[in-house]
Amino acid sequence: MSDPLAEYRRKRNPKKTPEPFSGVDEANRSRFVIHQHHARSLHWDLRLEHDGVLASWAVPRGLPRDPARNHLAVHTEDHPMEYLEFAGTIPAGEYGGGKMLVYDTGTYETEKWRDREVMIVLHGTKVSGRYVLFQTSGKDWMIHRMDPSPPGWTPMPSGVPFAVSRASQRLPAKDEEWAYELEWPGRRVHVPVSGGRAEVDVPEIRALGPALAPTECLLDGVIVAFVPNMYFVFDLLWLDGKSTVDLPYADRRELLERLDLNGPNWQTPPHFTGGGRFALDTARDQGLPAVIAKRLSSTYAEPDWRLIPVERGNRRGHG
Ligand code: MN
Repeated sequence: MSDPLAEYRRKRNPKKTPEPFSGVDEANRSRFVIHQHHARSLHWDLRLEHDGVLASWAVPRGLPRDPARNHLAVHTEDHPMEYLEFAGTIPAGEYGGGKMLVYDTGTYETEKWRDREVMIVLHGTKVSGRYVLFQTSGKDWMIHRMDPSPPGWTPMPSGVPFAVSRASQRLPAKDEEWAYELEWPGRRVHVPVSGGRAEVDVPEIRALGPALAPTECLLDGVIVAFVPNMYFVFDLLWLDGKSTVDLPYADRRELLERLDLNGPNWQTPPHFTGGGRFALDTARDQGLPAVIAKRLSSTYAEPDWRLIPVERGNRRGHG
């Protein structure tokens, strides 16, 4: 967060000048809150203190971090000031029924406040920067980030090539340098999750979006045609504004596990570090065709992955 008085202070020494030295006049700042609202459809509610009430917009995909992508913001009714601190569950069947969480809160400055255009600078914990809201038609407004993306934040990549395995007849020699995963027969899919939405053509797997919110990520895995369909997520390519394709497998896997993917239609299947023989036995017991050895130090961009068929791999043990 930039301090607008930084230059003023830099030029003056409070011990040598009688000039005033207090901080930013908080009276010029108003409060805001962003709720994460798990209603029938997940959205974020931006509420700005204004004229004694909270002017409110429902933003289905959340506030954009990318200035190149404007998001829809639906103007909703003013809310009472007490709503700044409200969090709780609105009973099912009532208006807006569902969980309401505080996603962020802070202060903001108003640069412009017109009937059809509101320009503000947010100073929150998670969301900071200059935004403009502008009406497009009726209750429909858009919200645009006027500042560049937050420092260090990069947009989610698209069209990343799948990391692929090459065929191998035997387990790698240095077992401890490898992790092993079971080969699940299914459809390989990258699933982008952002703004509480998972983009995938299998409806039951889309619930991953709201389940992970507000986390945004790009996942790699296979959809296995069980009943119901199950998305086995085994890799992570981008997480909350940072690419992970150049991280070693071990680090990507750790970040992936922190997402705690464990839902009715998605999970992170186990991996076995330095357990090639055990992985082959497990695969055979489960009737799976192969294991994949992944070198712990290899990146997604330059993978060293090896597909080892169960039958071939097991031959070694039998001379
Ligand atoms: Mn709402």
